[in-house]
Amino acid sequence: MTRGMSNPALRAWVEIDLMALERNLRKIKNALPAGVRYMSVVKADAYGHDAPQVVRRLRQCGVDCFCVANVREGADVRMVCGPGVDMLVLGAVLPDEVSELAANGLTAALSAPEEMEVLASAGAGRHGAPLPVHVKVDTGMGRLGVWHEDAPEFIRAVAANPRLELRGVFTHFSCADDAREDARAFTEEQRRRFVRVVESVPAAARAKPDFLVHADNSAGLETFTGSAEKLGKFNAVRVGLLQYGVPPRKNSLLADLKPEPVLSFHSRIGLVKRLPAGTPISYNRTHVLKRDSQIAIVTAGYGDGVPIPASDRASVLIGGRRCPILGRVTMDQTVVDVSDLPVPPRAGDLVTLLGKQNGDTIPVEEFCHWADTIPWDVFCSITKRVTRVLRGERC
Ligand SMILES: *Cc1c(COP(=O)(O)O)cnc(C)c1O
Repeated sequence: MTRGMSNPALRAWVEIDLMALERNLRKIKNALPAGVRYMSVVKADAYGHDAPQVVRRLRQCGVDCFCVANVREGADVRMVCGPGVDMLVLGAVLPDEVSELAANGLTAALSAPEEMEVLASAGAGRHGAPLPVHVKVDTGMGRLGVWHEDAPEFIRAVAANPRLELRGVFTHFSCADDAREDARAFTEEQRRRFVRVVESVPAAARAKPDFLVHADNSAGLETFTGSAEKLGKFNAVRVGLLQYGVPPRKNSLLADLKPEPVLSFHSRIGLVKRLPAGTPISYNRTHVLKRDSQIAIVTAGYGDGVPIPASDRASVLIGGRRCPILGRVTMDQTVVDVSDLPVPPRAGDLVTLLGKQNGDTIPVEEFCHWADTIPWDVFCSITKRVTRVLRGERC
């Protein structure tokens, strides 16, 4: 186990708490009605959390399926966890990727007859078996998927194709995370449209015990809890953000779930110095010191994932206290005001950009506000240069 705090060689790193991930998974699974399958979304390097480690741990704890963005990611995840677990490729499969899809035992998401033809004509999957597919239905997201009004016919064609095995149908909500009345009404409309499509799936396909019907991402889950009647025909969920510990919005039915953050983002002080009032700080002189100040130069910048909109706006934790960022965030460095710290910091001291340090915490919601963005983007923007340090590894 590598401990970031005590590893002086690191200048920017994230800590991934695998025990927190494991606890989140348990809590979410416990909150779901019995029999609902857990599809874990691990695209984009598990939202920047280090896919190989995340996948290994989630696999040990039991997930029913991994969702990846594309064939390349699917092949990487397959390498980590071997055969025996389903893997759904959420994005479009390119014509040239079909053999890699089949060789890695991945399940494709089909949106169009042309895709069906390409897949079917490329031959069978492993051991000559038909290629497993889910049909993706566009119920109002306006992105991938067959338009819901055309879906029944397409689904029948896929089900009738001997070189394909229809293993599921799904849709994706465009505004499940929006609490406003019209957004909620739209989600319900998407759900109604999808349920109508599900009813058109040939009974033989639907009757298979491992046939999956899924619509809900993390935000959709809150409408998923509750009565069996409301669940209707859904028997699986696709969980991303929530398993990484980003809480559902206030007043959600899942508010009691209290997932724990899995990722925290740290750096160090490279230099401390005093500058007189009136000194401009960083590129383009957007900040001018109002008083004689003690500043610290942090060894991370936008080249590591410190967002440029955080310039002159965000704070970081040093010595357990908040210190404001001064001026522009630069590629490799960020300047902060440490004048008010009771104990003057020194080069090498810990700087926390996101997460807990001593008594205080910078939660991802606050970081998003400073960065003018959404949590998915915050995680995906932490760059390759930032070492992933794992905690909570099992022996
Ligand atoms: C990314 C993604 C998810 C996961 O969404 P979260 O909000 O992170 O839970 C689910 N379904 C599809 C189709 C996705 O692309």
